[in-house]
Order: sequence, then structure tokens, then C-alpha cells
Amino acid sequence: MICVPKSFVFFKTPFGGKGPVAFRGVSTWCFLVLGILVLVVAVDFGWAPAVGVADQSPIYMTFDVHVDPVTNGFPVSGKRAVYEERTDNLAWVLDQTEPLDIPISFLSGGWYMEMLVEEGPSGVGAQVVRRMYGSGGQIGSPPRTPAPGPQIGSHSHNEYQVGKFNWPSFTGTPNLVESRKSWQDNISWVNRGIETAFWGSPPEPVSEINNVKGSHLPKSEEEYHTLMEEFGITVREPGPEEDYYGYYGHHIWNPFRPSTENAMAEDLSAPFVQVVSGPVIGEVGIHHGTLQDMSAESVKRQFLQLYVNWRHAERSNAPEKVWTWGWGAHAHNFSPGSDSRADLLDVVGWLEDNFRDRVEPTGTPVMEYATQIDVGEAYEIWEAANPGESSFSFDSLSVDWDEYPYLVPVAVAMEDHLWEADLDLGCGIDAFHLDKAGDDAVVMWRELGLSRVDLSDIFSTTVSVLGLETGNIYGLSVNPANVLVTTEPLFVAEQLPALLLGKPPRNSYARFHAVPEPASWVLLALTLAFVLPSRNGRSTPSQPSA
Ligand SMILES: [Zn+2]
Repeated sequence: MICVPKSFVFFKTPFGGKGPVAFRGVSTWCFLVLGILVLVVAVDFGWAPAVGVADQSPIYMTFDVHVDPVTNGFPVSGKRAVYEERTDNLAWVLDQTEPLDIPISFLSGGWYMEMLVEEGPSGVGAQVVRRMYGSGGQIGSPPRTPAPGPQIGSHSHNEYQVGKFNWPSFTGTPNLVESRKSWQDNISWVNRGIETAFWGSPPEPVSEINNVKGSHLPKSEEEYHTLMEEFGITVREPGPEEDYYGYYGHHIWNPFRPSTENAMAEDLSAPFVQVVSGPVIGEVGIHHGTLQDMSAESVKRQFLQLYVNWRHAERSNAPEKVWTWGWGAHAHNFSPGSDSRADLLDVVGWLEDNFRDRVEPTGTPVMEYATQIDVGEAYEIWEAANPGESSFSFDSLSVDWDEYPYLVPVAVAMEDHLWEADLDLGCGIDAFHLDKAGDDAVVMWRELGLSRVDLSDIFSTTVSVLGLETGNIYGLSVNPANVLVTTEPLFVAEQLPALLLGKPPRNSYARFHAVPEPASWVLLALTLAFVLPSRNGRSTPSQPSA
């Protein structure tokens, strides 16, 4: 349905256009005819939502929680205190996520599981591990495709075991034998921890539960691949691929089999899947050598970027991919009063409000929480259906918009913005107020149809309007009280980045299929071609009611 606007701003496209034309006071009958014309044009073009076409799987959101090594210089009593503190934090996380059925991608160091084993199956650590296991397998319920994947994986740095509760670290560049020793000690203790938590009888083989590995060793990617193969682990914890944020201001959104040459490039013959995600929620700082903003405000903006890309793939019937993202944290990040606690609740609540239950007009659900094991399995199912197909690859290790596989306008326009507020503009419009160092921006769209919105509460000057799918600039000095919104997500700001003006890079997003129904902007241009004469004297000041 169409929200009839009170007045119009007509944006011409930037390429050959003369700039925006604004006019007010279009008569009521004009809008009645306008509405009819839109319907006629829609019928002529066979314009209808592509109901039933569901090409993309939902966006799989992962929440990684892992237990880092403890300082080995601590006395055993000190290590036990750290164990108890981290266990308390893990229980707090589960208290938040269990009522919402959010699965945790849990990974632990061997030292923590050694403490758990000593405490026994009735201890608090074993309870937490059982709850972590029980949190998994929420995906695609029912029928579940891929199958549920509860996860208790193994995470280690450089540490290995030399005796009871004694875990020193290798220094320098440990060789493959030393790295193997570190993996063996940590993986074995995670297995024993799982067995203990389930009184010796885990619900499935430990090798299936403990099937994700994150480790600082070996330093050589080739050796890392060797050990993944030796230990038969099929999913790598997110981390090495985070550097993408340093190039494009967001993380990778598709899992892939990584190359030994470059952790962000693809090698379809690799023995494991790299799941992709952001680092610690609530932290802004250098992680893995790259400055990354994982504050709640940045996570929300990044999710909007991901959603606009995913929605475009869905709307344009692009070939199916596995889409995924998420955030991580260590158990120690969730101490009472921490930024990670506050930002976790903020982000989870926002996703519940805006996206958790959202279904596209095609019938496709937007997002599902999943474990890393689930994402690995979703990738393998996709891979089997698309043999030889690339999922994702970043080969150049430099900003190259021709190579960039997502929507360029989304990356360029929205980079470094922080979410400020959800906007209620009525008419079923989704709108979000963003901010970048004091400069306001709005991202907004409608599922169907078009309507006028008034953004003058946010902008006191004229604004520029950018189409986030096409890269079209619909106006460079538009009255913020009269901005048209339609199905293509728009980016509205006082100024657009220079890269998007003139001849912006378009190659990459042109690879996506065009949205099949005539874009609403085409309808808009046609309706304005009809309305335009009224500007020359026929219209009366009377305004239709919205
Ligand atoms: Zn770690």
C-alpha cells in the first residue's frame, strides 16, 4: 500500500540530472490519479513481491564465548579463584541468553576443564558446560537444516601441560611438534571436561561436540592446516579473518575454506571451514592488529550493513550464499559492571526488537542464532549443492572496489557510523538514525510502496539522498522535510563521501542481479512525469491528508 505524501520532492539521478526539483501544493485529485497510475504501472510491469522465492538462508548470528588461559604464575588457589570468577560470568551470560534461546559457541582452554574435572559433575563448572551444550542446536527448528550443533570447542594460546594445574607457555616460534603438544593437551582436557560434565556419557561423541578450534599456534598457516587435518577438526574459530575490518570497516559475512597463503583468501581444498565474526562485544580497540569497534552502537550499524546486503541478495534472487556474522567475548569480559555485559544486553534487545522475528515478503526469515558448528555445517551443505563455487575470497589484501564482493555504497557511505536511534516514521518504514563524529545520517527503506517522510527533526539543512543498492544519487540538496522512501534502502546525510560522487565504483555490486520487479524509483519517475504539469498553475493549495 502507498502512503500518500502531502507534497513531493523530485530527485533526478546524478548522472545527467539537473539536481532536485521540489514542489508543494499538489492537488488531491493529482494524488488520487497518481495512486491509480502507480497501480496501473505496477500491473503493467507485473510488479509484485516475489512471494515464495527464497534464495538466501537466514543470516546466521553467532555468539562466541571462550575461556582464555590463566596466568601460570598464580598459585593453584589463585587459579581456582579465576576459574570460579569466570564460571560465574559464564553463568550470567547463560542467564541472559537461555530465556531467548540464543545458542553459545563455547570454547575452553584445557586448564579450565582440568579444574572442572577435579570439581566433578556436580560442580558449578560442569553445570555451566551442560548449559552451554543445551544452548546449542536452535537453528532451523523444526525441521532442522543443518542439524543442531551444540558446541564445546577448544581455545588455546601457547600453553601446554607439564603437570597438575601447571600450564607454561611456549615462547618464540614453537615448532610443529611443540604446537601439536599444545593442541593435544588442550583438546584432551576439553574432551575430559565434556565427559565429566555428562557423568561419562555425553549425548553425542565428544569429537562432534569438540569440533571447533581456535589457537595462537602454530604460527605458520601451513602447519595450522596440518594440525586441523590431524585432529580431524572441521571448523576454525573466527579471528584470523577479522583483519578485513581494517580494509572495509566491517567483517567478512560469508564462511569460506581459507588459504595457507592468506587467512582471508579462499582455497576450496582446505580441510576446514573458517567461520567469520567480529571480536569482543563492548570493546573498541586493537584486536588481531586491527582497530575494531564492537561497541553496541557500531555492532548495530554493522548489522544494518549486513542486512542491507543480505536483503538485496534476497530481493534480486542472487545465487544462494551462507551469510553469517556475530560477536565474541572471553569469559573474563563479562564481569559485573563491564561494557561487555551492557553492550551484549543492548545488542540482543535491539535484534529482538527489529530483526529476530522478521520475515521478508519472500517468506525468508532474516536471522537465526547459530553455533559455529552450525555455520560450518550450513557451509558444507551449500558447498555440496554448489561444487567448485567460491563463497568468499579476499586476495589482494588492499582496498580494491572491483574485488569487493558486497554493495560498495553500503561500505563507503556507512563506514564508521554509530547507531544513534531507531526512528518511528510511520507507514511501515524501517529507519535508523546514525552518527559519525557529530554528522547525522539516516538509513531507511520500506518493504513495499513509497511514501514521504519528514527528517527535519534530524537535519536542519538540505540533504543528499543515496540509493544503497544502485549507488544512484537521488538528490544532493533535498529538503529534509520531503524525502521519498521506497523499497531500495536510502542513505540520507548532509554530505556524501566523495568516492560516491561523480563516477563511483560500480563493478562489484553490478555483479549482483538487479532487483527483478521495476524499482519503485522507476514508478516514481513515471508518476512524476504525470504530476509535473500541475506545477505550472493547475494545482491548488489544498493538500491531501496522509
Ligand atoms: Zn584467546
